[in-house]
Amino acid sequence: MTMHEFLHQVSAKNSDQPEFIQAVTEVVESIWPVYDSNPQLKKARILDRIVEPERVIIFRVPWMTDAGEVMVNRGFRIEFNSAIGPYKGGLRFHPSVNLGILKFLGFEQVFKNSLTTLPMGGGKGGSDFNPRGRSDEEVMRFCHSYMLELFRHIGPNTDVPAGDIGVGKREIGFMYGMYKKIKNEVTGVFTGKGLDWGGSLIRPEATGYGAVYFADEMLKTRAQEIAGKTVVISGSGNVSQYATQKVNDLGGKVVTLSDSDGFIYDPDGIKGEKWDFVMDLKNVRRGRISEYAKEFGVKYFPGERPWGIPCQIALPCATQNEINGEEAKTLVKNGCICVSEGANMPTTPEGVEVFLGNKILYGPGKAANAGGVSTSGLEMTQNSMRLSWTRDEVDARLHQIMKAIHEQCVRHGKEGSFINYVKGANVGGFLKVANAMMDQGLI
Ligand code: NDP
Repeated sequence: MTMHEFLHQVSAKNSDQPEFIQAVTEVVESIWPVYDSNPQLKKARILDRIVEPERVIIFRVPWMTDAGEVMVNRGFRIEFNSAIGPYKGGLRFHPSVNLGILKFLGFEQVFKNSLTTLPMGGGKGGSDFNPRGRSDEEVMRFCHSYMLELFRHIGPNTDVPAGDIGVGKREIGFMYGMYKKIKNEVTGVFTGKGLDWGGSLIRPEATGYGAVYFADEMLKTRAQEIAGKTVVISGSGNVSQYATQKVNDLGGKVVTLSDSDGFIYDPDGIKGEKWDFVMDLKNVRRGRISEYAKEFGVKYFPGERPWGIPCQIALPCATQNEINGEEAKTLVKNGCICVSEGANMPTTPEGVEVFLGNKILYGPGKAANAGGVSTSGLEMTQNSMRLSWTRDEVDARLHQIMKAIHEQCVRHGKEGSFINYVKGANVGGFLKVANAMMDQGLI
């Protein structure tokens, strides 16, 4: 079978899942030469097996509003691949969630987790529930109902969920609490837990910090650094917040943040009390980023994305397909030399082509945002040992893992003097999972 025949087959089988087809296409295009030259992998039909989740769980989540109205949402867990460890990956609560989006995220997670060097398989889950505008009590009732089904499918050695869009410490607390009550055991079944009940220091910071560490490693290959550079960031949630903090620590200047309503542009930089304001606005008051513009007298661009603001570094940290081909061209034209993806698949295929064609430093999400799941892996280790490492120890391990991921990308992605990080991440991630599947036979 040729690559095109294979991709055609995947598209036909999953025709209602465009994001999943997009993610599979990107991976398969990168790894095909490796796959095609390995008759054993082909005979074992590893690729056909790797694009099919081991298990998909879909369930009803009924819950009640504060006003006594009955609501019904759809819950999912995709247990994609356990060849190298328990399923591991976040839960997303957002109205856009559907099977195709979670399959794309679960598929990416398989390769990302492989790159971390830790023993974690890939999974993803969530619901079309929208926590925005809901009271804490409503969110709790939803989370409890969600867990009343999910609990029977997960476990510290089976499947260990974490957070993602719309799922932070509050939601993990409610879900973990219900799991503990039903199972009557205290285990490391979730990561991203609160520090007082089994969480790891640096886990909240890890995805954002990791994306900046990865940018720093890429810049070093061209004798550049973050200090003195202007950085455009999208989103204003968990990943964006800590990416902003780490850029500030390293002497860069972050000039934008956004949410799904628009973006703010602060040419003086989002730091000090301004960063504190964002943390309170988004994590405590759960308000909109437009309030930042009112508070500090800067410009707000409703309904727009920040990619038209000139910068040397761009960190997309909101959601999938948020940089299209035109926006990628604008970034490059305005002098952007480095893109490190905090979000999953934030760049469309046309955008990726622009970045690769212009040979800028482009770190795809499965490598650049792997710091989050890596630190989740470290949280699992600490839970198993019933010990807590210090902040410095976890941060040092995270930094080391990001360097190791970068090295794998360089090893597998070198094309002359250019490093194709897309190819590097896909080939590196694929080989380990494929070899483990070969070792374990036809299951
Ligand atoms: P949060 O829910 O904390 O923040 C998400 C941010 O993105 C919010 O500012 C949100 O705005 C914005 N956003 C969400 N959907 C859209 C949309 N359709 N259009 C524009 N803006 C949008 O999520 P995280 O920070 O945890 O996750 C952000 C990204 O990082 C996701 O792609 C996630 O998969 C990825 N990621 C997260 C990891 C983690 O550890 N948290 C690990 C690895 C990857 P609004 O409030 O208006 O919805």
